[in-house]
Amino acid sequence: RAKAGGRHRIEVFDEQLHEQALQLLEVESDLRRAITRQEFEPYFQPIVRLVDGAVVGYEALMRWNHPERGVLAPGAFLHVADASGSMEAIDWQVFDRTLDCIGRLLQPGQYVNLNFSPRHFRSLELDQRFLQLIASKGVSPSQVRIEVTEGALLENPEQIGQVFNRLRENGVLIALDDFGTGYSSLSYLHRFKLHTVKIDRSFISDLRLEDEGGSTAVVRAILALSRAQRLEVVAEGIETDAQRRALLSLGAEIGQGYFFAKPASLDAILAGRKDDLA
Ligand code: C2E
Ligand code: MG
Ligand code: MG
Ligand code: MG
Repeated sequence: RAKAGGRHRIEVFDEQLHEQALQLLEVESDLRRAITRQEFEPYFQPIVRLVDGAVVGYEALMRWNHPERGVLAPGAFLHVADASGSMEAIDWQVFDRTLDCIGRLLQPGQYVNLNFSPRHFRSLELDQRFLQLIASKGVSPSQVRIEVTEGALLENPEQIGQVFNRLRENGVLIALDDFGTGYSSLSYLHRFKLHTVKIDRSFISDLRLEDEGGSTAVVRAILALSRAQRLEVVAEGIETDAQRRALLSLGAEIGQGYFFAKPASLDAILAGRKDDLA
C-alpha cells in the first residue's frame, strides 16, 4: 500500500515537471519569435530633482508587447530569457530602440539610463560594440548611462573593471543599481570608479520623516558614504510625498518613483508634453 502511494506521488511529481518543462519550452519559442518580430520596446521613467520634480534623465525599462498577453514587464519573462540565453539579444534590441528615441525624448543636459544584465560583461568587446552603436545613432556618450547590479561586479571583476575604464574614458557614466541588496563591499564603489549609486526601493518604502525608524539609518549612511566618495545618489521607488520629503531632509537630491511618474512609452510621454502646452 505504502509502495503504491509512493509510486503515485512520483507520477504526480513527474507530471508537474513535464508540465513545467513544456511551459518553459513554450515561453522560449515565444521569446525567439518575439525577437524576430521586434516585440520589445523601452518604456521610460523620469529621474527627477526631489526638490522641484525637474527631470534630469530617464531610465529605459523594457516591455514586451505580447500579441496575446498584452504589455509584459520584465518580471514575467526575464528569468526565462536569461536561462535560455536570449537575454543579450533582447537587451540589444531594447538599446537600439532606446537610442532611436533619444532625439525626441531628451532635452539638453538630460540622459537615459540603460540596464545591462551581468551576462554582457562576459564579452570583452562590450565597450566597443556599445560605443559603435551610439555613434552610429548620432548619440553623444553624455546622453547615455549604464546601470549594473552588484551581481555583475562579483561575477567577473577583472574584466568588468577594464570595460568600465574604457567606457568612462569615452564619456559613458556608470551607475550601481539596487544598491544595498547585494553582497558587494563598499570598496567596490571606489574600485570600479562608479558615478552613481541607486538606493534600492526596499529602503525607501519604510522611510519615516518623524523618527529614525525603518531604513532611515541605512539611507543616512549611504548618503554620507556617497558624499565622501563624491558619488551621485538616486533614490528608487519613491511612492509618496512623505518619502520624498524624508529623503530631502536626509540630504538626498535625486530620485525616481511612481510618486513622480510611472514608466511610459515615448508616445505617451510626448503626448503628455503636448497637454502641458495646451
Ligand atoms: P530596476 O532596474 O531596479 O528598475 C526599477 C524597477 O522598479 C522597474 O520595474 C520600475 O518600473 C519599478 N519602479 C519604479 N518606480 C517604482 C515605484 O515607485 N514603486 C514600485 N513598486 N516600483 C517602481 P520593471 O520595469 O518591472 O523592471 C524590473 C527590473 O527588470 C529592473 O529593475 C531591471 O533589473 C530589469 N530590467 C528592466 N529593463 C531592462 C533591460 O532593458 N535590460 C535588462 N537586462 N534588464 C532590465
Ligand atoms: Mg535599473
Ligand atoms: Mg533598481
Ligand atoms: Mg531592481
